Amino acid sequence: CDTLAKAEDWLRSQNTPFHLENYVDGLYAQASSGTTHIDSFNPKTGRVFAKVPCTQPGDVDAAIHAAKAAFLSWSKTTRAERSAYLRRVSELIQENRELFAVWESIDQGKTIERARVEVDRAIANFLYFSTFILHQKTAARMIDEEEVLTYEHRSPAGVFALISPWNMPLYLLTWKIAPCLAFGCTAVAKPSEVTSVTAFLLAGVFQKAKTPKGVINIVFGDGPTTGAALVISRLISGVSFTGGTATGVAIRQATAHQINKHLSLELGGKNPTLVFADAFRDGGHRERAIKIASMAAFQNQGEICLCGSRIYVEDSIYDEFVKEFVAYVEKAFIMGKSVGAVASNAHYDKIRLYLRLAEQERAVFRLGGVPKELGVGDGYWIAPVVLTDVPLDSRVMKDEIFGPVATITKFNGEGEAIQLANDSEYGLAAILLTSDGARMRRVSEQLEAGMVWVNGWLQRELGTPFGGMKTSGTGREGGEYSREVFTVVRTVHLPA
Ligand code: NAD
Repeated sequence: CDTLAKAEDWLRSQNTPFHLENYVDGLYAQASSGTTHIDSFNPKTGRVFAKVPCTQPGDVDAAIHAAKAAFLSWSKTTRAERSAYLRRVSELIQENRELFAVWESIDQGKTIERARVEVDRAIANFLYFSTFILHQKTAARMIDEEEVLTYEHRSPAGVFALISPWNMPLYLLTWKIAPCLAFGCTAVAKPSEVTSVTAFLLAGVFQKAKTPKGVINIVFGDGPTTGAALVISRLISGVSFTGGTATGVAIRQATAHQINKHLSLELGGKNPTLVFADAFRDGGHRERAIKIASMAAFQNQGEICLCGSRIYVEDSIYDEFVKEFVAYVEKAFIMGKSVGAVASNAHYDKIRLYLRLAEQERAVFRLGGVPKELGVGDGYWIAPVVLTDVPLDSRVMKDEIFGPVATITKFNGEGEAIQLANDSEYGLAAILLTSDGARMRRVSEQLEAGMVWVNGWLQRELGTPFGGMKTSGTGREGGEYSREVFTVVRTVHLPA
């Protein structure tokens, strides 16, 4: 199906959902008999359209063994060889760009425009790492002294478990697969059970690219059955995980005794957007400030870990900001056009619960309201909600809602802005809107966030460290930071 309309027509004509299959050792493989299947819903219609195997530990193990066997030869391929495979994968995704975008939109609920952006970013992930490795040295920092030549030598770390969440399925999974394979490791990847379809398509791309068997294996299933069996295996050298903080903690606990397992954990966030009066007045770009703050809050229905859902506004512009922000959001974020459906029934219910709490706590709904209880066959649609007067210690303010819900709170002066921004257990990202050059640096460097955007949001340079502070995670990924994740280092001393 090469358009969204055709794919939706085709789905309507089907009486039964289609079944996904794991990709193991270069082949699509049926799960062992007795494997149960998880329903995959189209969030826009609430209908089941696919069945995802909940892969059992025995089948997970077979995938791990395939990756382990492939590691022997893949880890010895040249950088140029691996680069060529990754480039081919990026080309094949590019050739099937619309197919990937269509199924991402159907599976996740996001708009087709947003899905296209993410497919492009997935292509960029493979292209970036295919060229990055060509310019890397495996040996570095040589010291030739006292008749000894000492150098650091890096080699691929082994087999990795690559686990991703449901909000940007293809993009986040490829952000792990591309560097993992580029640095000479092999993998068993597991997408979220909520959004598995584009990973299933991606397996076909690897097959078509003739990637050697076992180098990349993709298994489907939930966290407790499939994910847990994957991370705990002693054959797995490392885990690159993106998802919720509670799951990150569970993975860390489950693997604590495997002291040497590499863990890169990219976790939750509850990011602040700070709007200073000078961004609005004094030569600031008023429209730009409103646009960035609203995109950061509502892009992809607020289901991006980097979304700025806590907006703090300097008191002298608070009233006019709230008024203009609400008017802009109402105009620019239209359900079914620029706003998609939220990812799942469970997620819809979670967002609804927080909005009911806001109502009980007498927060003011400046836009939107508590969504209705879902009936059978309803899509998971929630219009953007803008709240003010939310108590600072409310769970609405503290917890990651991860939906189209933004709070606006007043601050008085730079000190209070920084204090409010940092008043969170999370520390993933922050957005700063100001026209004062000195303040840009002064405030940015005091924010407890792994990534800070000034007068912008979501731009990415793939070589920079991506990751969070506090409970938003541990480890960084991107460029040479990914190299740290996927390689081991040894120091060699040679006699002169
Ligand atoms: P989640 O933690 O529930 O699930 C993420 C993945 O982990 C899924 O594939 C799931 O099946 C798997 N999983 C669950 N339990 C597991 C276990 N015990 N062992 C191994 N795997 C297990 O997260 P989610 O609800 O899918 O995604 C939303 C979360 O992801 C939000 O908190 C969001 O902030 C976070 N996120 C973070 C980033 C980042 O880069 N920091 C990016 C996107 C999303």
